[in-house]
Amino acid sequence: MIGYKNNILMCEDIDIRELTKVYGSPFYLYSKNDILQKIRFLKDIFSSLDDVLIAYAVKAENNLSILKMMVEEGIGADVVSIGESLKYIKAGGDARNIVFSGVAKTEEEIKKSIELNIKRFNIESIPEAVRINNIAKELKKRVKCSIRVNPNVDAHTHEKITTGVNGNKFGVCIKTIIENSNLLKSLDNIEIESLSMHIGSQMTDAEPFYRAILVMRDLINEVNSMGFNITDIDIGGGYGVRYNKDHSGFDFDKFKNESINLLKEMNLKVTTEPGRYFVAESGALIMRVEYVKEELGRKYVILDGGMNDYVRVAMYDAYNEIYPLVKRESVSNYDFVGPICESSDFFAYDRECSVVEEGDYVALLDAGAYGFSMSSNYNSRPLIAQVMADKDKHYIIRKRQTFNEMIESEII
Ligand SMILES: *Cc1c(COP(=O)(O)O)cnc(C)c1O
Repeated sequence: MIGYKNNILMCEDIDIRELTKVYGSPFYLYSKNDILQKIRFLKDIFSSLDDVLIAYAVKAENNLSILKMMVEEGIGADVVSIGESLKYIKAGGDARNIVFSGVAKTEEEIKKSIELNIKRFNIESIPEAVRINNIAKELKKRVKCSIRVNPNVDAHTHEKITTGVNGNKFGVCIKTIIENSNLLKSLDNIEIESLSMHIGSQMTDAEPFYRAILVMRDLINEVNSMGFNITDIDIGGGYGVRYNKDHSGFDFDKFKNESINLLKEMNLKVTTEPGRYFVAESGALIMRVEYVKEELGRKYVILDGGMNDYVRVAMYDAYNEIYPLVKRESVSNYDFVGPICESSDFFAYDRECSVVEEGDYVALLDAGAYGFSMSSNYNSRPLIAQVMADKDKHYIIRKRQTFNEMIESEII
């Protein structure tokens, strides 16, 4: 819900220039109604299935205000640390809607999660299954689990966010599951009720989903014939968004026709774990143009926000649209760069854009997911503010970190 109206960039009904006067720069801006729209759209996609848990992958963006919106919409949580569980609960969430993924669950995290009574552990290795069983035994509990399967299906996405092919650290290979089936069945304090997958992030084609669910279907039939009782399939997340406005987003029509129909036939409970899809397009990183510098025929727009605030371009070669808050008639080509002392600190190379000047502001679009949540204090830069827009109202959901807050844990 960020777009131009009479050449002025608006977020919902707000002229973003007004916000720079109130909140300074840089800051993250989110559209509340965009998030709600995405949640409701995905609920609708799954509405033909009887028993569905939509568990938001908290790592995409974990601000308490945003988690509270998830809770109010009846959305569960997919977490990868005890910290994420505690934040979801702090926001009003029910622990019984939490599934705990991640390859390195510590003894402390497992113990605490059992005490909190979370819905399920998504187990990523045989030693983890043994560890959870031992801790559950000590606590005299029987806990529900899923085995995260590596279905060896390529999600056709960036190599750093492909997670479901052999050679990734995630999940358990089919061969390993079969070879260890007797061991897994002998673990009396865990009840393996589900098989899960998460094959990658930012998928636009729905085909890999379908192929992976077919692999999972065969595996579920096979292990059930070996004495397991799998009643749930967790298909993970990975629904892609339109970072480049010339490209298309995730093919939900195809997903509905193929994958949802297949899931319906399988007649199991279904879990899905969207992260990026719920929040990416709702968020923009608003930055000030500090300088426009020309060198050897290149024009650099030097911004006050950098890779410590938004790392996805440097880390994943991500593409984000950059829109000036005021669109002028003439255009030019710019490199958009940040202040950090790294050559990888840039947001766009040779990007055509309406002319910008020192003191202008720009919005880096679709920055709501893996944006603030991956930010850091690199270069001793305080974490920036987060602001929510709701129609013509706006409010801060995270204060800008002060210099003193940034250094308060250090000892001199
Ligand atoms: C990160 C993650 C997700 C969410 O991925 P998106 O691409 O943001 O939808 C879902 N499940 C697991 C296990 C994850 O690690």
